[in-house]
Amino acid sequence: MSPRCKKIACIGAGYVGGPTMAMVALKCPDIEVVVVDINEVRIKAWNSEELPIYEPGLDDVVKAARGRNLFFSSDVKRHVGEADIVFVSVNTPTKTRGVGAGKAADLAYWEGAARMIASVSKTSKIVVEKSTVPVKTAEAIEKVLRRNCSDPAVQFEILSNPEFLAEGTAIEDLERPDRVLIGGKETPSGRSAVEVLKSVYEHWVPAERILTANLWSAELSKLTANAFLAQRISSINSISALCEATGADVGQVAHSIGTDSRIGGKFLNASVGFGGSCFQKDILNLVYICETLGLKQVADYWASVVSINDYQKQRFVERVIEAMFNTISGKKITVLGFAFKKDTGDTRETPALDVCQGLLQDNARLYIYDPKVTENQIHADLATPKFEWDHPGSRTPSRKQDSIKVLQDPYEAAQDSHALCVLTEWDEFKKYDYERIYDSMMKPAFVFDGRNILDHERLRKIGFIVYALGKPLDP
Ligand code: NAD
Repeated sequence: MSPRCKKIACIGAGYVGGPTMAMVALKCPDIEVVVVDINEVRIKAWNSEELPIYEPGLDDVVKAARGRNLFFSSDVKRHVGEADIVFVSVNTPTKTRGVGAGKAADLAYWEGAARMIASVSKTSKIVVEKSTVPVKTAEAIEKVLRRNCSDPAVQFEILSNPEFLAEGTAIEDLERPDRVLIGGKETPSGRSAVEVLKSVYEHWVPAERILTANLWSAELSKLTANAFLAQRISSINSISALCEATGADVGQVAHSIGTDSRIGGKFLNASVGFGGSCFQKDILNLVYICETLGLKQVADYWASVVSINDYQKQRFVERVIEAMFNTISGKKITVLGFAFKKDTGDTRETPALDVCQGLLQDNARLYIYDPKVTENQIHADLATPKFEWDHPGSRTPSRKQDSIKVLQDPYEAAQDSHALCVLTEWDEFKKYDYERIYDSMMKPAFVFDGRNILDHERLRKIGFIVYALGKPLDP
């Protein structure tokens, strides 16, 4: 094992691999960092002026390091073969068929990457789990690595180094992380591998923020972190339903409980639901692991976080329909925001998709505007069968492309519309000229604020009928 790292390869140039390695390269000019991917289109984009993902501050980091010690390549085998440390940041989606379908993590990409690492390795390597994986994955990966490498002198040490960045704030999170977690085996070679990886992060992360743990704790910490974050969202969303039923205001409740230092104020915004590629998949994975270990009560507990999230999206759709006199058939509804959160163009598992599907199911016409999501992406997402509410088969995805228009201008999207639905918390939505929008809309004009970001009092003064999550209803 090389005591010092000279070259890093990262398999997977996605939302995690790209930004993470760009930061490593920026902060470690003495290390060559090559991000590799089998997706040549993505690699081409990483080498161009138009990066494949939108993330505030990412362009600057990539431009500062690219060509110096940061490279993007589709020559996967060569760079992996030459590396001292191989990060694996491939996708670990939910299995769609077979045993564990709908819950278990699909480790096919990971296994493929491990077989390839083993086959091209002529020197010993540290293999780092950057992807989010089920607890005990390192055990399986170790078997794949050892049994597919023909050179007995080549040693592999597996570390778990889960990534805690959040899309939309990835660069800030990577530059000043709350913590970096490194899990390794409690053996001399395991400890030495941990030290090598620590030495990389120590280029910019204060030593007290680099935590070490055993492999299984590190793997489980990532699933647990996402489960806790999603649980907070589902918890406050469940209270939002109670607020609407009683006249309490979820904003006031959140503020009151958030000032308790044991609870804290973050992640307490009621919303139309959480999305993104990770929360749901990681909780379902946790549920599956618990089930396979015979921990049914624990599995049921975490499964409720996902079912409350589905309930919140369903509730939102039903409220729109109910408020608009029980029919939205043929009515034009303006959807503001399609990304799963602000400051990203990512639509994976976005709640907007489920809400739009629900509205289309009741025959609405949707005019969609998002500052960063492309028209093609929105059409592709809405054409893909995906979501069923609690009753499978009760909602089928709409393929009525003529019911969906994607606009580049929010004012155009609102013209002649019956209602605005805010589904992503983009800052620009707060700054619109709502008098102008109101004047251009059908009356009564509704606002359904699925993120509680607009000034509801002001909107009411203009004339809108406003529905906000967890807030007293309009008289
Ligand atoms: P992604 O789909 O954007 O990127 C994964 C990339 O891996 C793809 O470009 C794919 O082509 C590539 N790939 C797959 N198999 C490969 C192989 N054998 N060789 C080379 N390339 C291969 O996924 P992502 O969002 O970057 O997530 C990656 C992992 O990180 C997942 O496990 C995810 O759960 C975890 N994670 C994601 C986030 C997030 O915010 N997106 C945050 C923390 C952790």
